[in-house]
Amino acid sequence: MTAIFFILGLIVGSFLNVCIYRLPRNISIIRPSSSCPACNTPIKPWDNIPILSYIFLKGKCRKCGESISIRYPLVELLNGILYWTTFNYFGLGWHLPILFVLVSSMVVITFVDLDFQIIPDVITLPGIIIGLASASFLLPDPFSLQPSALSLSVVGFKNSIAGLFLGGGLFYLIAILSRGGMGGGDIKLMAMVGAFMGWKAVFLTTFIGSLIGSLVGIFLMIVKGKGRKTKIPFGPFLSFGSIITLFFGGEILNWYFRI
Ligand SMILES: [Zn+2]
Repeated sequence: MTAIFFILGLIVGSFLNVCIYRLPRNISIIRPSSSCPACNTPIKPWDNIPILSYIFLKGKCRKCGESISIRYPLVELLNGILYWTTFNYFGLGWHLPILFVLVSSMVVITFVDLDFQIIPDVITLPGIIIGLASASFLLPDPFSLQPSALSLSVVGFKNSIAGLFLGGGLFYLIAILSRGGMGGGDIKLMAMVGAFMGWKAVFLTTFIGSLIGSLVGIFLMIVKGKGRKTKIPFGPFLSFGSIITLFFGGEILNWYFRI
């Protein structure tokens, strides 16, 4: 069963690569089928098998020999690992497809934001709706989860609404105070995180995202000599924080209150 969800994650990951490339360029994600960015030759189905095709083709286009970014198989692998982990943590059930939407959204947001410094509304706005709609009966509360729990308690509609407004409100405030240092995409991203996982997740995701973001920022300033004003997209760090919150939020809070 774990292998099935891992493979499903790889296949969806292949589609996520299409989304990451096309969404910010305003190209339809359905048509045309994938083609080589260098020579525009359509990619044959047997050359489009997640990870394996990349290895067989030695990372090069079959037609023109232009090298294909290692990021394509890595995104597939990442999504495979995320689906695998989601299944292992939350077990089989109708909550799985909803959680897959959450983790895959975070993958797309991370790479689109890295490339273009934008977070597409076509992901966050439907994400907010899906989170709200499923919070009261499908979405497991990451903070109630015990490692061996057989039954999961749900996030709940009130918690989801509270998370939506806290996430959106907090980042709206930061956007105003930082005078443009924080974009509208981050506001909607955090509203989505809140809608999916409740208000506690907003605080924990923000904390983890800021911590990792600061460390990476300091690292870049030292190593690459980037200035204090260099823009670093925040979406990837918030996405990372939300994934950590989903899987480890309960344990992190327990640990925090123990010390
Ligand atoms: Zn080519």
